[in-house]
Amino acid sequence: MNLYERDQRALSSMASLRFFPQAAVGGEGAYLIDEHGGRLLDLSASWGAASLGHSHPAVRAAVDRALASQAGASYLSGANIPAIELAERLLSIVPGRAAGRVWLGHSGSDANETVARAVVAATGRPRIIAFQGAYHGGTVGSMAISGHPAQTSVQRAPGLTLIPYPNAYRDGGESHAAAAALRHLEDLLAGPLPPGEVAALFLEAIQSDGGMVVPPPEFFQRVEALCRRHGILIVADEVKVGLGRTGRMHAFQHLGIEPDIVVFGKGLGGGLPVSAVVGPTPIMNYRAAFSFQTVHGNPVCASAAVAVLDTIREQGLVDHAAAVGKHLKNLLADLKKRHSLIGDVRGEGLAIGVELVSDQATKTPAKHQTAKVAYRAFELGLVLYYVGVNSNVLELTPSLPLTHDEATRAVEILDQALRDVTAGRVDDGSVARFAGW
Ligand code: PMP
Repeated sequence: MNLYERDQRALSSMASLRFFPQAAVGGEGAYLIDEHGGRLLDLSASWGAASLGHSHPAVRAAVDRALASQAGASYLSGANIPAIELAERLLSIVPGRAAGRVWLGHSGSDANETVARAVVAATGRPRIIAFQGAYHGGTVGSMAISGHPAQTSVQRAPGLTLIPYPNAYRDGGESHAAAAALRHLEDLLAGPLPPGEVAALFLEAIQSDGGMVVPPPEFFQRVEALCRRHGILIVADEVKVGLGRTGRMHAFQHLGIEPDIVVFGKGLGGGLPVSAVVGPTPIMNYRAAFSFQTVHGNPVCASAAVAVLDTIREQGLVDHAAAVGKHLKNLLADLKKRHSLIGDVRGEGLAIGVELVSDQATKTPAKHQTAKVAYRAFELGLVLYYVGVNSNVLELTPSLPLTHDEATRAVEILDQALRDVTAGRVDDGSVARFAGW
């Protein structure tokens, strides 16, 4: 039995989201290492969590130090220096409006769930607005405020209103998409959805699991103006695209807005489970919204996160992500000219989506082809996953230190995978097993 088969026999499939028979036993920088010592270039860096790359020395050292000095400590144990340092660093990088207090958690899901509870409790307003296609988590409370079609096992929150996220590629260009989505929100707030009942609007500056959708310029400034007029809090979910990934420290900086509350996760821990909510003190200290878990803010995970933030700053990884991201996007734009399967290439920095369509004119989502491309790329040594409400967008979210040459190599492999799929050289049966057809 190989490692992948053991994994399938021992671990619950509820938690297993596999696109191919991947069984990495290690990792180093931008590479995953399989059980035979093979190296796979990881363009999804475990979906953005390994922000500094796999097995980064700064994260390892921070974890070792914390384990040696404060093993077993939880947030309850009194002064927890790494948690304090992490909170201080986060307060220093978010804009003033949000820079009140920090709540630490384990995942994007628990962080968003905590925010949803806190904003409703603290404002006394029962309703929340989120976007169709948005993925804010996999726990009951975070799923209930999400709009992703994969999350059907849980009822949406009774007070949730989902609004369309403007999609320039699918909705007639930037200005048309923005105007239609804005009108939808304005009409809602003018009648069916009394604004005085809405606590918060959750947004992703790039809608990631919904398909790496980049919003049209100025759309969110208009949304912000509406929210300010009605006292609706703006929550920026930066879980996937925050902390340097887009070539800015915060993805919402591309939008020209200033959120009230910022949620971090994934890359914050560099692979360890840690998330954070940064928001105004009256909300973050609203005791009735009590959100406590035994080991949240534990020194080991908090130390890893401090090391991640320090490394991003010291190594200039925000600018690096912008530069390598530009190179990667240029190469992908070239690739688009050679492959009719590619309908759109979009993104900022190292948060890029490649949307595959079976027809350029009708833009029919090429769902099966997308699964085949990801599978074939894996066989050729490149790890990348796919997202989107139609499961037809390849997501490129590599570790931030990805080099110019690694980006070039990744696109060469993707090119080959696209050619193999187009030429029918990929076995449907093996892909279907993973894609669930
Ligand atoms: N928010 C966003 C924007 C995400 O992309 C995700 C995960 N894909 C989450 C929240 C949930 O994070 P986690 O899986 O760490 O709970």
